Amino acid sequence: MALYVYKFGGTSVGSVERIKAVAERVKKVHDAGDSLVVVLSAMSGETNRLIGLAKEMQEHPNERELDAMVSTGEQVTVALLSMRLHELGCPACSYTGTQVKILTDSSFTKARIKDIDDKRIRADLAEGKVVVVAGFQGVDEDGNITTLGRGGSDTTAVALAAALKADECHIYTDVDGVYTTDPRVEPKARRLDRITFEEMLEMASLGSKVLQIRSVEFAGKYNVALRVLSSFAEGNGTLITYEESQMESALISGIAFNRDEAKLTITGVPDLPGIAFKILGPIADANIEVDMIVQNIAADATTDFTFTVHRNDFSRAKTILESICADLGARKVTGDNNIVKVSIVGVGMRSHAGIASTMFKTLADEGINIQMIATSEIKISVVVDEKYLELAVRSLHSAFGLEQA
Ligand code: ADP
Ligand code: ASP
Ligand code: MG
Repeated sequence: MALYVYKFGGTSVGSVERIKAVAERVKKVHDAGDSLVVVLSAMSGETNRLIGLAKEMQEHPNERELDAMVSTGEQVTVALLSMRLHELGCPACSYTGTQVKILTDSSFTKARIKDIDDKRIRADLAEGKVVVVAGFQGVDEDGNITTLGRGGSDTTAVALAAALKADECHIYTDVDGVYTTDPRVEPKARRLDRITFEEMLEMASLGSKVLQIRSVEFAGKYNVALRVLSSFAEGNGTLITYEESQMESALISGIAFNRDEAKLTITGVPDLPGIAFKILGPIADANIEVDMIVQNIAADATTDFTFTVHRNDFSRAKTILESICADLGARKVTGDNNIVKVSIVGVGMRSHAGIASTMFKTLADEGINIQMIATSEIKISVVVDEKYLELAVRSLHSAFGLEQA
């Protein structure tokens, strides 16, 4: 007898029919004698709809109230699934994050899980019930409802699998695994049988939203056997693993992209110690996260300083830079929020030279101008104009031989 945690995403519970189909799948596992905890997202589109409602009340909604409201999407689906299981004669019980309880810190809209009380879940499982838990939400020390950030149901599932020492955690979604790149952008993308935690973490943090970053971090830390599979088709999906052996021959495992970034430049900055701090200090004080940073070598005792932020923070960051520009003795501030970041990821990069030059040549051959470059041991990222996103992804996908056989 095994213990599984299954998570079904928004599309998988997007209608009454789909919830019924999930119930059938769950009942089969239960009838086979295995123990099952099911984590659900809200119906697809519901979280966005709720956020939209909130914004009609308040331009920047109060985050405590926002979390109290958006968490209701998941409360609906878990109760519906549990009802359907009852209808099928399968014992089940639904819980919110507060009921379980999934204890988090108090960072509303991006809370981190601190602890999971598994007593109720274990007692239900011992009685042969299927336990259905609302994803994406928790409760802080003061009893306030919190949410874990967009895509957070993945993290709920992995955290429960870790707490319960489940045999496997399955993430059921609308694709049948992790692909070499988003199949919506490159239809020739290939499903990977396996990907390492390290690569999955890079892919997720560079924009592949198939798994929330924190869920991968959690799974890596607690050694959770994590698999991404389709809700709609049979198959083994993709296993996230520590083993690299299978992928020795691949230089690059995948291509990720992020459309959520914007670029800011402050030109003619005096080339003096402390300047980077003077520029980025006020940005950090405003709680704005900075991603890539490039500072040019000074030609005439002044330099240009460029960095990227989330698009939502673009206008705030630009206003801050404009307010410090004169004090710094800099020339001017420019910005561009029509940029994207495209990254290639692969542990094979460690042992092979020439990958960066292949990437740059491929983009040059397509006439794509590279605006910024950043590298780490297993990834190379470039910032390009957003109109080149598809072209960049597809040409790199082909240049590194990632297509289906
Ligand atoms: P869910 O609602 O089930 O959580 P998501 O929309 O969060 O589903 O994640 C699945 C989506 O992730 C896919 O439909 C796909 O477009 C996108 N995606 C992005 N990058 C990849 C990738 N490398 N492999 C598979 N899917 C990807
Ligand atoms: N419903 C939440 C969202 O749309 C959480 C999730 O689906 O994982 O972000
Ligand atoms: Mg998701």
